[in-house]
Amino acid sequence: MHELSLVQSLLEMVDELSLERGFQRVNVLRLSFGRLACVDPLSLQFAFDVESPGTRAEGSKLVFDILPGALYCFSCEGEQKMTSHELRCPVCSGTQVILTGGTEELKLMEMEVD
Ligand SMILES: [Zn+2]
Repeated sequence: MHELSLVQSLLEMVDELSLERGFQRVNVLRLSFGRLACVDPLSLQFAFDVESPGTRAEGSKLVFDILPGALYCFSCEGEQKMTSHELRCPVCSGTQVILTGGTEELKLMEMEVD
């Protein structure tokens, strides 16, 4: 479960930020990642529940922004939103496509702190 190491580095980042900005507690953590990035929100939440006690993020709510998959289709000559995990254009069913979105790694977007 690589979500565990993602959460560990997230908590380290929160710790560093708390020293920098001088906050004591985090109320909300807003995270974003791509739908195709192989990050499972449930595993992420579970790892967070296990790892966060004793840190400044203990008890914080996790909010996930999951970015949609997107691809560029050479037949349509345009970017299309993916409707499945299949590497195929949702408009013309073409397979001459490249992934342009949805593989973004986990990122901390925003925090609400005290
Ligand atoms: Zn197409």
